Amino acid sequence: MTARFTLSDQTAEHDHNQCIRNAIATAEDLCISRGVQLTPIRHKILELIWNSHKAVKAYDLLDLIRPSNDAAKPATVYRALDFLLEQGLIHRVESLNAFVGCRSSGTRHDQLLLICTVCHNVEERSAPQVFLALAEEMQSALFSPQRKTIEIHGLCKSCRAE
Ligand SMILES: [Zn+2]
Ligand SMILES: [Zn+2]
Ligand SMILES: [Zn+2]
Repeated sequence: MTARFTLSDQTAEHDHNQCIRNAIATAEDLCISRGVQLTPIRHKILELIWNSHKAVKAYDLLDLIRPSNDAAKPATVYRALDFLLEQGLIHRVESLNAFVGCRSSGTRHDQLLLICTVCHNVEERSAPQVFLALAEEMQSALFSPQRKTIEIHGLCKSCRAE
């Protein structure tokens, strides 16, 4: 499972296996408490997305899953992704048409995504002050937003250092 995990995801202060364990355990608990099924394919897709903090495209997931499940079709992957999105376990990175695992999947939330253009790592930040200011702006525009995701492209901490 960790074979495809690249070293660049692991910094001295970051144990990514811990990220994976937390994400999977949270997902399992949430699905049980909501009475929904984390089927083997949904579980597998979630694990593959959590291989790193990089945004992953649906067709990459399909390539990754085929060795262990040759019956997997694009529709299978998309259905699993829809489920994970619905349950708030992953986020869609609109600007890349890709997906990342959510670090705080227990609650519905707005998200600020910092997307590195070099390593494709995505950092999710809750940025409460940003969203507060945004809510005021929406209110003064008499606009009711359905979704609020802010995506910012740039260089992450480790790529800046290189
Ligand atoms: Zn991690
Ligand atoms: Zn999130
Ligand atoms: Zn980077």
